[in-house]
Amino acid sequence: MTSCSSLSSFNLHRSTVTNRHVIISSTVKTADGNNNGTSSSSSNIRDEARRNRSTSKNPFSAKYVPFNAPPDSTESYSLDEIIYRSKSGGLLDVEHDIEALRNHDGAYWRQLFDSRIGKTKWPYGSGVWSKKEWVLPQIDDDDIVSAFEGNSNLFWAERFGKEFLGMNDLWVKHCGISHTGSFKDLGMTVLVSQVNRLRKMNLPVVGVGCASTGDTSAALSAYCAAAGIPSIVILPADKISMAQLVQPIANGSFVLSIDTDFDGCMKLIKEITLELPIYLANSLNSLRLEGQKTAAIEILQQFNWEVPDWVIVPGGNLGNIYAFYKGFKMCYELGLVDRMPRLVCAQAANANPLYLHYKAGWKDFKPVKADATFASAIQIGDPVSIDRAVYALKNCDGIVEEATEEELMDAMAQADSTGMFVCPHTGVALTALFKLRNRGVIAPTDRTVVVSTAHGLKFSQAKIDYHSKAIPDMACRFSNPPVEVKADFGAVMDVLKGYLGSKAL
Ligand SMILES: *Cc1c(COP(=O)(O)O)cnc(C)c1O
Repeated sequence: MTSCSSLSSFNLHRSTVTNRHVIISSTVKTADGNNNGTSSSSSNIRDEARRNRSTSKNPFSAKYVPFNAPPDSTESYSLDEIIYRSKSGGLLDVEHDIEALRNHDGAYWRQLFDSRIGKTKWPYGSGVWSKKEWVLPQIDDDDIVSAFEGNSNLFWAERFGKEFLGMNDLWVKHCGISHTGSFKDLGMTVLVSQVNRLRKMNLPVVGVGCASTGDTSAALSAYCAAAGIPSIVILPADKISMAQLVQPIANGSFVLSIDTDFDGCMKLIKEITLELPIYLANSLNSLRLEGQKTAAIEILQQFNWEVPDWVIVPGGNLGNIYAFYKGFKMCYELGLVDRMPRLVCAQAANANPLYLHYKAGWKDFKPVKADATFASAIQIGDPVSIDRAVYALKNCDGIVEEATEEELMDAMAQADSTGMFVCPHTGVALTALFKLRNRGVIAPTDRTVVVSTAHGLKFSQAKIDYHSKAIPDMACRFSNPPVEVKADFGAVMDVLKGYLGSKAL
């Protein structure tokens, strides 16, 4: 399955999936055609959304512009164009018609967003699409591909805060308790929905491709599978664990295993997408950030539109830190809240180009060679969104921190010991919190949110290694290995008495 396959099997796979897509769409058309406003047993939430479609003109719109363009720039592109970079080769940004959104006050938007939470009404049951007017205002509800992602738990880390930090207002935003187990779902629902729209407009998109190993490929394959769109995932051979592979395999992606490293895969997918009509889903794609920014809006909403003092986000390619900034900024600009939180970006010390750049006073950014880290999703030395991250941090009095392997694994284990089950990336963010508390930058009463980016179950091997003290040069201070004991009542009692001590007497 993971070995390089011949071109003929590639074509075979692609046409099979395409046929399935055609069958699905024609079924939908029939259901639509039969529908005269009466609810039939075949009616579903998508049909209902179609019936309720407003006929009045949609006042909201968005377009691509060059990221941080000078005020006199006129360069812009429709979101229906297939374009990843600006004319000068820079990043793009999705720019909303803020004046149109401003025709409603903050109270209107707060009430609208609040009214959509926790329902199944298509597509607003999603935490992303409940903010549709701020995400992709012009897409038909019918074109949206959603797994009702978002609306993730904002967990009050009561015991962790009290015991380890002396804090009483500490929260963990569990973005990884999600459809495919990471926050990447928030962006991928937007990207795949837009691709679905382009395909329905008969634009030549035969599939979507990416060159990621972990969470991006998992999210891409699930959303494409839900919509019947072929997805192609390019992975470096022998550098991928089964756990990282199994999601795209199970979701029917065409998985290519290539004898190179990540950068080699990235180069190949870029070359491939120049030759074949495959949409590129990698992290420079600005559509994904529109979905990711809704996690920031959701945090404000969950605090009843009160602004936390600090939000700490682990960063690798650095799209997410900018997405959080953008979400908070829009809420501030449109009057939903009255200030901005301060953002902290947390990096692994083994992959810390942003940290070094921050420490050097934002002078002369230099990429680094990233070393292996347990926080594998942020093992990136030359982040695509460096400009976005610097812009975000400069504009909210932001801070960058780093975490060594031992620090991040200890922090993860400490969080787990208070009832969470977090990923190593969350351990990086928690380490940043420890350091900023110790230096007195974050006060004990500051309302602080730590963003957890993936589900801990995706990283069980790292936890097993830690708890069995199998990591070279790491004390694993908080490990809790199982006690091996004979199947004998006396032996078990001895062990239990030793554990319970005087409490058992
Ligand atoms: C992608 C990812 C990140 C990093 O996000 P960036 O936008 O690349 O900074 C962090 N944690 C997890 C679990 C991820 O999958």
